[in-house]
Amino acid sequence: MQLLSATRSLNSQPLPFLSFSHSISLPLPLPFLPNPSKSPHFPSLQIHCIDAAQPFDYESHLKTRYIQSTSLKIGILGFGNFGQFLSKTFLRHHHTLLAHSRTNYSDVANQLGVSFFSDPNDLFEQHPDVVLLSTSILSTEALLQQLPFQRLRRNTLFVDVLSVKEFPRNLFLKYLPPDFDILCTHPMFGPESGKDSWAGLPFVYDKVRIGEEESRVRRCDKFLDIFAKEGCRMVEMSCMEHDRYAAGSQFVTHTMGRVLEKFGVESSPINTKGYETLLNLVENTKGDSFDLYYGLFMYNQNALEQLERLDMAFESIRKELFGRLHQVYRKQLFGDQEQEEMDEKFSQKLLGNGSLIQPPLDNVRQEGS
Ligand code: NAP
Repeated sequence: MQLLSATRSLNSQPLPFLSFSHSISLPLPLPFLPNPSKSPHFPSLQIHCIDAAQPFDYESHLKTRYIQSTSLKIGILGFGNFGQFLSKTFLRHHHTLLAHSRTNYSDVANQLGVSFFSDPNDLFEQHPDVVLLSTSILSTEALLQQLPFQRLRRNTLFVDVLSVKEFPRNLFLKYLPPDFDILCTHPMFGPESGKDSWAGLPFVYDKVRIGEEESRVRRCDKFLDIFAKEGCRMVEMSCMEHDRYAAGSQFVTHTMGRVLEKFGVESSPINTKGYETLLNLVENTKGDSFDLYYGLFMYNQNALEQLERLDMAFESIRKELFGRLHQVYRKQLFGDQEQEEMDEKFSQKLLGNGSLIQPPLDNVRQEGS
């Protein structure tokens, strides 16, 4: 133990009391006194200045002060699947967490070390620095309309983690008091894909409205720091851009995962790497609620177009397959003669008007080879 300011006087006998320069004597329980018979150089301790900061004390003070300066009081609204998942990491970063949800999650919250409030009034009266919205996309507007904003501090930071971005951005601008700061975010991972680590996983954010005061800028940075320190790939982009990209990637991924789940993919003893990828896709998406998926569809204006494109792509593949099958079938019925006549007709047309003509679906001869 590093009682560095203590002086040592070697070989003195065990003392029943330690004496201090301020003439304070403290009884020291015998088990804590070193045994002089085993340690010939055992020191007696004299602390000269009991009220001076000791190094071990100083370090812990510094640590506490550092944690206080970087920690936030975060109120989570919507303590379901994703809210709980996020809170576990927030707690590791020494933030104070409060939560509210329509379901009573007191027990889960207790186990995690989160204070749970059944009434948002009570949570807001705790004056969190940050209010984080982690409710379903579908319930967001109804919830925002009921929140008692007047109980919060005037410049609270509102953050959302919804999987669509333009929709909550517009709702925040519509319903939040003008003094509130707004940060729209999308951690592009979930309890399944981010269960081991967040390192390298994309975190999209848009500082929609952050006041210029240093404290407000710092508060927003502290929040973003949680994800940066976890190693997320921090991507700053507008909500509109996010939705455009996400419809083409995230919505399509969820759709394929759901289609394959309905289709019923199952592991087999001869899984290929590609098939394993499909199984993982189903695993990653099946834990998400249908509300979430429906929200991706309903509240991203680009999603419908992507669904239609998927439909068309599927139809086109089907046509290609059936087209070839049809050719093989015709060949079996009519032999090579018909094919030769058709080839001749096409080459005449091409020579006739000079324009390129798409040949009929691949040549039947290939099929036979
Ligand atoms: P979710 O089904 O999208 O949302 C469930 C949450 O919404 C629960 O906290 C639930 O509260 C609350 N909720 C649902 N209907 C409500 C209503 N009518 N009134 C009040 N609260 C209501 O599933 P989630 O996975 O937890 O996602 C939460 C948010 O995070 C969503 O906006 C989602 O887009 C986003 N997100 C999710 C993931 C993910 O991988 N899961 C990833 C990134 C972002 P109760 O539990 O109390 O009923």
